[in-house]
Amino acid sequence: MAEIVRVSKKSIKKAASIIREGGLVAFPTETVYGLGANAFNPVAVAKIFEVKRRPYFDPIIVHIADPGEIGRLCLEVNNRAKILIERFWPGPLTLVLPKSDVVPDIVTAGLETVAMRMPSHITALELIREANVPIAAPSANLFGYLSPTTAEHVAEQIGKEIDLILDGGKTLVGVESTVLDLSGEPTILRPGGLPIEDIEKVIGKVEVCVISQKPRSPGQLRRHYSPRTPLKILKDKKFDILEGVKAGFLSFTPIKNKSPFKKIEVLSASGNLQEAAANLFSCLHNLDKGGLDIIYVEPVPEIGLGKAIMDRLRKAEGIKNPGANSSELDNNCVLGVKS
Ligand code: AMP
Ligand code: MG
Repeated sequence: MAEIVRVSKKSIKKAASIIREGGLVAFPTETVYGLGANAFNPVAVAKIFEVKRRPYFDPIIVHIADPGEIGRLCLEVNNRAKILIERFWPGPLTLVLPKSDVVPDIVTAGLETVAMRMPSHITALELIREANVPIAAPSANLFGYLSPTTAEHVAEQIGKEIDLILDGGKTLVGVESTVLDLSGEPTILRPGGLPIEDIEKVIGKVEVCVISQKPRSPGQLRRHYSPRTPLKILKDKKFDILEGVKAGFLSFTPIKNKSPFKKIEVLSASGNLQEAAANLFSCLHNLDKGGLDIIYVEPVPEIGLGKAIMDRLRKAEGIKNPGANSSELDNNCVLGVKS
């Protein structure tokens, strides 16, 4: 079992030396916990795929501690990228740009593009600086399962197969970064911790392509971020619970009638979407451990972070967005919601 150590100068130094030597370290970021390896070491990056049981077609985000680093990782930093970096880095925004030769193919799954992010979490930044290499890091969970927002979530899923877990407490944002492809027309590949509206205020309308037959992002797979228990998003307040079925409920705000449910988790006491995003994966982890037959979910308003929350919930349910209009789709997108 990997050692779980509280964040300190000493533990960060130890984690950095593990990364430099080709090992794997789970570490907190402001979004979710990442599973990090030296991005320039293809063998170390291969271990990430093994531990996560992640298919090799899924590229990994490279984490940096200085915006200037991206000049080395990609061929050209276009104007939109410069403006967005100035405005939103460090933070939960991942940018995809044409890659340079220094980035190993295994990191980008053979794609000509590389995804990069500068996290704002102080521990993540110190770890990258101390390791003195960019850190390739997907979320520190088994592929397709719920993302980890605490060190315990990491330990439960992959603790036996990695070298160290840096415990920095619960993550603040709670959903993964927003992934924006800037290698062509700006396209959101995954809604996330930075609201799409905030990006559009700076660079104008962007296309949104969240489910693809040929995913550029694993978050685009139709089923992802899933608990093991079946999950159903409610369309209205009506539902029938059959005799003997153990049902759980994921509610946006506190509910009065608790009786039909064996277990209830509330995303936010005050109906705050930021709080709801921060609690989302923890609540789902708790429900998944509750011995339930089904988890019913109350939808949240689809504005700001609500888009990222509903994206994760639909992927957890494993069906496509019923609101999508097929005439709006481009060649690659099964669900392409043009906003
Ligand atoms: P995760 O594995 O949960 O951290 O997610 C990382 C996200 O970044 C995934 O959705 C990746 O597919 C996406 N990503 C990483 N590299 C690329 C790339 N070169 N092009 C497009 N998306 C990428
Ligand atoms: Mg992930």
